[in-house]
Amino acid sequence: MTTSSLSKTEFLNEVGKFVSERIAPLSREIDERNEFPKLLYKEMGEKGILGVTVPKKYGGRNYGFPIYLKVVERVARESSAVAASIATHEMLTYILLKHGTEKQKEKYLTSLVNGEMVGGFAMTEPWAGSDVNSISTSAEIREDTIIIDGVKKFISNGTFGDLFGVVVKTGELGKGRAELSFVLVEKKDPGFKMEEKLDLSGNRGLGVAKLVFNNCEVERGKLVGEKGEGFKIIMDALLLGKLSYAAIALGLMEEAVNLCLSYTRERKQFNQPLFNFQAVNFTIAEMATEFEASKALLEKVASKWGRDENLNFYASVAKLFITGKACETALKAVQLHGGRGYLRGEKVEKLYRDAKGLEIGEGTSEIQKRIIARELSKMGMV
Ligand SMILES: Cc1cc2nc3c(=O)[nH]c(=O)nc-3n(C[C@H](O)[C@H](O)[C@H](O)COP(=O)(O)OP(=O)(O)OC[C@H]3O[C@@H](n4cnc5c(N)ncnc54)[C@H](O)[C@@H]3O)c2cc1C
Repeated sequence: MTTSSLSKTEFLNEVGKFVSERIAPLSREIDERNEFPKLLYKEMGEKGILGVTVPKKYGGRNYGFPIYLKVVERVARESSAVAASIATHEMLTYILLKHGTEKQKEKYLTSLVNGEMVGGFAMTEPWAGSDVNSISTSAEIREDTIIIDGVKKFISNGTFGDLFGVVVKTGELGKGRAELSFVLVEKKDPGFKMEEKLDLSGNRGLGVAKLVFNNCEVERGKLVGEKGEGFKIIMDALLLGKLSYAAIALGLMEEAVNLCLSYTRERKQFNQPLFNFQAVNFTIAEMATEFEASKALLEKVASKWGRDENLNFYASVAKLFITGKACETALKAVQLHGGRGYLRGEKVEKLYRDAKGLEIGEGTSEIQKRIIARELSKMGMV
């Protein structure tokens, strides 16, 4: 049987096997060296991991969004960095599917799906993070070309990506609001430079970088959507990004609970396994409860994908809740491992560093609260 004819369950089993055999053994090295093994993209492409939501005519598997989230969650149990890399790659894939022209889809989608090209989403700048309206990277749209100038920072897949969706300012809308547009830039385009690899504390290996566009010239055909449609495109991308980060957080939580369960059953103090102490088993009971609640929440929100007009509200609720719980769970896991949990190279120590980044990327927890409050005031009631 070819891997493209698998049922959803068979596909997820194959992904699980691939994660255990290929990603798990690399996870520690990726973290220590802060380096992504780009070859993994080709392998993930072959396994169908990069095309879960993409129609078959572009080489994808078309299993749908909830299955994509399960894949990301499974990968995150072994490597948050690899899962976050897939998530940012998927953001660009999704933007092209939803807003790209047929020509853009034909040119890029198959290469993104088979892993020949790695994608990224470049919005944040040194002086513009939560407030996207204040970006200063500008683009002048000419008859045949687009000229981009500016700096982007904190861009995942930045060190090894081949194709970036870049949020640019193309004008003023009045009252201090910027007109935003979305342009594709390839690594080989003149005036593009990956300037600096950032030394993150967690999610190391995600290739987070500073990108510079200096009189960068791309063909006019690389504008995605119409001029001025950037904000709409960003909102769509972030919807996917928020749920992806929630799924990564869920994977981290599951791993943390399992590690604590096996460690506290094995490790003895006062002549008995740590798990026998109520303070310990109650902590793990709470962690497991929060994991199950998070799992149910994500499943509920995933089932609304493409069908619910209040998805932005639900996606922010899931992102806020699950990434927050993942941080708390990972911190408890460090404590339950005692001194060992505080050693570099221990999995729970890495889980905590990774979980913290999930509360920041794809919109901070505070920004999620702003969105939830704003959407609530529109909805009236939940
Ligand atoms: C692991 C990781 C991967 C990332 N990948 C990408 C990527 O691929 N592409 C990309 O474009 N960016 C990426 N980012 C950047 C990320 O999107 C930004 O870090 C995030 O949006 C916050 O922006 P900032 O860091 O400038 O913080 P700021 O916006 O300066 O915020 C600093 C603090 O102030 C708070 N704050 C800001 N405004 C408000 C407000 N109105 N009300 C209350 N509190 C507020 C924030 O919540 C935060 O606590 C990544 C970040 C991380 C950690």
